Amino acid sequence: MDLCSVSTIKYIQKTFGFKNAKSLGQNFLLDNSVITSMADAAEITGDDLVIEIGPGIGVLTYEIAKRAGRVVAVELDKSLIPVLKYTLAEYNNVEIINDDVLKVDLKKIIEEKNPEAPRNVKVLGNLPYYITTPIITDLLENGVPTESITIMMQKEVAERIVANPGSKTFGALSVAVQFYCEVERVVEVPRDSFFPAPKVDSEVLKLRVLEKPTVDVNDKERFFALVKAGFGQRRKTLSNSLLSTGIEKEKILAALKCAGIDPMRRAETLSLKEFADLSNHL
Ligand code: SAM
Repeated sequence: MDLCSVSTIKYIQKTFGFKNAKSLGQNFLLDNSVITSMADAAEITGDDLVIEIGPGIGVLTYEIAKRAGRVVAVELDKSLIPVLKYTLAEYNNVEIINDDVLKVDLKKIIEEKNPEAPRNVKVLGNLPYYITTPIITDLLENGVPTESITIMMQKEVAERIVANPGSKTFGALSVAVQFYCEVERVVEVPRDSFFPAPKVDSEVLKLRVLEKPTVDVNDKERFFALVKAGFGQRRKTLSNSLLSTGIEKEKILAALKCAGIDPMRRAETLSLKEFADLSNHL
């Protein structure tokens, strides 16, 4: 069965009485080459446990199941569970969890499914756009033991993630992801590659989770508090925007001086290393 086709999706809708829920971001992928690119980029092998987020009717799950040792797919929509059982019937290495990925304890699932080798885990997904940032931050900040996260997201969000200092799109999300990961652009996906077509274009990124963060920080909480304050008022100079951390102005100015950063600069011009130096001097 070709799951990448409008006629199959319509057949499934009719047979299972399933209706696409716009509120759950149900835009199904129609381009097989994108699925291959995602699975190739994730470098899935028979030793891997893959966690898939939002399998939909199983188009990506099917390709992952062919390559991986084990697949756990988390799908929120109850009406898609019988569909997935049908489309993935030929595989016995797939388990579907009917739940909200933002509410399940992925760390616990990984420990249960993969007690021997917790690092041999990969996360993939064609995410509904509204959960992209929460799911990425959740995976990275809670230390979910995954080697990589290969996900489709709105193109504008991908651009924010890969942005460099000095660019208008460089912000707290760029710093957070680049702190934990090496980022690779996999493929751009136009809106007409989905059914129904969403209003925006997409892009797949692979986030390779590093053994240790890209910069050394003494206190991760302070580092991220500075990033949040700096970008919270990004038009203000650092000497002003950083005041919202609650740290006294003299201390901020002294730390900026020790780190060799002009207090008149704005957060969007700082590299991760400069944020780290500033945080460590405080
Ligand atoms: N992977 C399929 C594909 O590529 O065609 C479907 C992708 S569709 C953009 C997003 C999927 O995520 C839908 O099946 C939707 O029901 C599911 N979903 C939405 N919110 C979710 C959540 N919080 N937790 C788990 N799945 C969710």
